[in-house]
Amino acid sequence: MVGKLARWLRLLGFDVSYYKKIEDEKLIELAAKERRIILTRDHELINKAMKKKSLKPRTLLIESERWEEQVDQVLGHFKLHKKIDPNSRCLECNEKLKYLPKSRAKNLVPPFVFEKADSFALCPSCGRVFWKGTHFKDMEKKLARFK
Ligand SMILES: [Zn+2]
Repeated sequence: MVGKLARWLRLLGFDVSYYKKIEDEKLIELAAKERRIILTRDHELINKAMKKKSLKPRTLLIESERWEEQVDQVLGHFKLHKKIDPNSRCLECNEKLKYLPKSRAKNLVPPFVFEKADSFALCPSCGRVFWKGTHFKDMEKKLARFK
């Protein structure tokens, strides 16, 4: 229910774990252990978390079904607008990206990308390379609305 939200929060540079399928109990324990805030549209999950007082769970009930409004809610609720750091985190594994000098990107990206893009970043975990290209410009337009 909040997969797109998770992806967008990562895109904005935030540390987000996302589980498509996980037992509520396990999720609540993980969140407590990793000091994460549970973002969910599931009332029942929040109720369950609240009952685990010893874990001091932090939760936010996501109100909207639309991802744009979900992102707005989270940024507003936690006052995150000034902490937005786009394209600093891997969308797949949530790892912080490392700057990749253009010379080292040559063999890691398609030739046309190497020609056109100037800025590259590498995910140390999965090895994916991200770059600023046309796709990035479309994304920046979308991102602009959250600033
Ligand atoms: Zn990665």
